[in-house]
Amino acid sequence: MENHKSKFLFLKIPGHEIRTLTARIAPGFPEGILGPSKGKPKEMLMRSARLLLAVFLMLPVLALAQDRPIIIKAGTMLDGRGGILTNTNIVVEGSRISRIAPGTQEVTYDLGDLTVMPGWIDTHVHIGFYFDQDGKNRDMNLGDTPAQSMLYAMGNAYRTLMAGFTTVQSVGDPTNRDLRDWIDQGIVPGPRVLSSLGGIGPAAMGGRTGDPAEIRRIVRQLAAEGADLIKIYASTSIREGGTKSMTDEQIQAACGEAKAQGLRSVVHAYGTESLRAVILAGCTTIEHGNRYSDEIIELMADHGTYLDPHIGLIYYNYFENKDRFFGEGNYTEEGFAAMEKAIPIGIETFKRTLANPKVKIVFGTDAVAGAHGRNYEEFIYRVRDGGQQPMDAIISATSLAAESLNLQDKIGTLAPGMEADIIAVAGNPLEDITAVRRVVFVMKGGIVYKNIAPGT
Ligand SMILES: [Zn+2]
Repeated sequence: MENHKSKFLFLKIPGHEIRTLTARIAPGFPEGILGPSKGKPKEMLMRSARLLLAVFLMLPVLALAQDRPIIIKAGTMLDGRGGILTNTNIVVEGSRISRIAPGTQEVTYDLGDLTVMPGWIDTHVHIGFYFDQDGKNRDMNLGDTPAQSMLYAMGNAYRTLMAGFTTVQSVGDPTNRDLRDWIDQGIVPGPRVLSSLGGIGPAAMGGRTGDPAEIRRIVRQLAAEGADLIKIYASTSIREGGTKSMTDEQIQAACGEAKAQGLRSVVHAYGTESLRAVILAGCTTIEHGNRYSDEIIELMADHGTYLDPHIGLIYYNYFENKDRFFGEGNYTEEGFAAMEKAIPIGIETFKRTLANPKVKIVFGTDAVAGAHGRNYEEFIYRVRDGGQQPMDAIISATSLAAESLNLQDKIGTLAPGMEADIIAVAGNPLEDITAVRRVVFVMKGGIVYKNIAPGT
């Protein structure tokens, strides 16, 4: 995860500010074009970028000198753990944050009118799902060439990053491996991707299954292939009733072996019966949930099981794109009716769960085709329909999500030593949650990928 091949330039060229030329370069996206934000007419930036390109072409071997810190001025800064700072500077050296303190240094990026926070984390996406040229729902196995499917997946990754999500967990697709690794190496832009590379459960869900011994063998195989987590389908699809689809022994084998391999277990589960089995098996995270008794809320709190509920975007995205999904598999009238019924049930359950502050609710969207790049809509459903406090919704997508991924020492919080995953929105989401739609600055690992702050 640390394999970024960033380029550092320190060149003195008459008439051009060193600041521009020393900034780190995002793969495929010359930083000179994207930023810095202040006092830089566009033509001058273009000229800088052209000059930079010329320098690259003329001098294949560049003398790389010391990097200069990037200083970001934050008008309002949410640290991801509930803290709020105003008018402070975030100092970035290399890929990390080195200091956060007010200062009078010349700033590289003036985000003084914006709300700055850690890059968001979506703990449940299907990065390889897309609408094809005919507008129909597709993934790697449904008709397009592997190259075409990968390009769609790259497009999804890019849109997700531009939407402020600097880390995603992609569940269930073995073809995520190359995308994950290519992004990691800085070859293509995208959020950090954690992938299950496959799943355990009924074949109808895209999983592989067997007796407990066979399930343990599959888990070990996925671990050996480089999975970051084990995805498990303990229930059927919500479109097929969401009933329990694995025995307690199978669930215990899957989550137990994941733990033995040092991996987290992320379990698709609906309803009291499935959730009870998942919690008691010591699995890490419950995906969906949707409907369950108060007893389950207590159990989650007592066992420290993370919950990743999806209360809005997943459903409304299906409805808005119904004709693109309809007719394939369980995307039937019954399937859509089941999803419509699940919305009020999910919201009622979410509110009951929120009432117990000990339950660790993380942020995930289950983004499929049509939802990539608007993952932030789930914040709005959470706050507006679910009644969650805006700050809690943001924490669920930053420090708490990072903790659920076992990456709390690296991402999800703005603090010295953490990776410089920093985003900014126009407006203040604590006052108006729809501000999450206005992501104007995205830095991942110290590299700026987006800087369209108003006034630039
Ligand atoms: Zn999913």
